[in-house]
Amino acid sequence: MKPMTGDMHMHTIASGHAYGTIREMAQSAAAHQMELIGITEHGPGIPGTCDPFYFCNFEVIPKELYGVRVYHGCEINVLNDGTLSLEERWIQRLDYGIAGIHTLCYDNAGREKNTDNLISCMRHPKIRIVSHPDDDRTPLNYERLVRAAKETHTALELNESSLRKYDRRLNCLDNYRTMLRLCREQNTPIIINSDAHDPSEVGLFRRAVRFIEENRFPEELILNNGREKLEHFLFD
Ligand SMILES: [Zn+2]
Ligand SMILES: [Zn+2]
Repeated sequence: MKPMTGDMHMHTIASGHAYGTIREMAQSAAAHQMELIGITEHGPGIPGTCDPFYFCNFEVIPKELYGVRVYHGCEINVLNDGTLSLEERWIQRLDYGIAGIHTLCYDNAGREKNTDNLISCMRHPKIRIVSHPDDDRTPLNYERLVRAAKETHTALELNESSLRKYDRRLNCLDNYRTMLRLCREQNTPIIINSDAHDPSEVGLFRRAVRFIEENRFPEELILNNGREKLEHFLFD
C-alpha cells in the first residue's frame, strides 16, 4: 500500500487531556515520514479544552516545523440542535474544521436525528472531516451519511484510536465495515487519522491500514496517501 503522508487529526496539551506540544507533535510527525499534519484541539464542550480565544493567533506559528507543514483546525462538537459548538468568528480563523459527536456534550437522539444533526454540521463550508463516525452509543444512518459526505465534500474518518479501543465504542468495527463498503460503492473518499493525544501516536496507522486491507478498500479513495490530493480536498 502507498504510505500515508498526512495526519490531520491530533490534540496537544491545549485540549486538556492530551500531552504533547505542537512542536513535539511535529517532531514525531517528521520521524514518522509525515509531510503534513493538522493540529485540531477540541472545541467548547469538552472539559478542560482551550478557550476559543486560542484559535485567533495561529499566524504566529511557523507554517513548517521540522520539515512538516502544520495546519490548524479544530475538532468541533456536533450539538443536539444540529449546530457546531464553536462560534462562527473562531471557525473563520481555522484552516479547516472537523465535526464530531462526543457523548460528553451530546445526548443520543436516535439514529435518524443524530444523522440529521451531523449532516447539518457537514454543510458548513469549513467542515472538511467527520471524526470517528463509528459508535452506536450515538448511532448513524450510514447510507445517508455517505451520500452527504459526497454531496458536501466532507471526508469520513477511519480513526486509528477508535480501532485501538474498539471495545469501548459500540459496534465500532461493524460500523466501519459498513461505512467503507458504502464509500467504495459510491466512490466517496475517506481519511485515516491517528487522533493522537500524545506525540508517540502521530502518523501511526497500523490498525487502520490492516483494516483497509482486510476490507479491500481501494487506496485511490484514501485522501492522505498523497500530499497534493489531500491539500486539494481540504483547502480548494
Ligand atoms: Zn473526537
Ligand atoms: Zn480527536
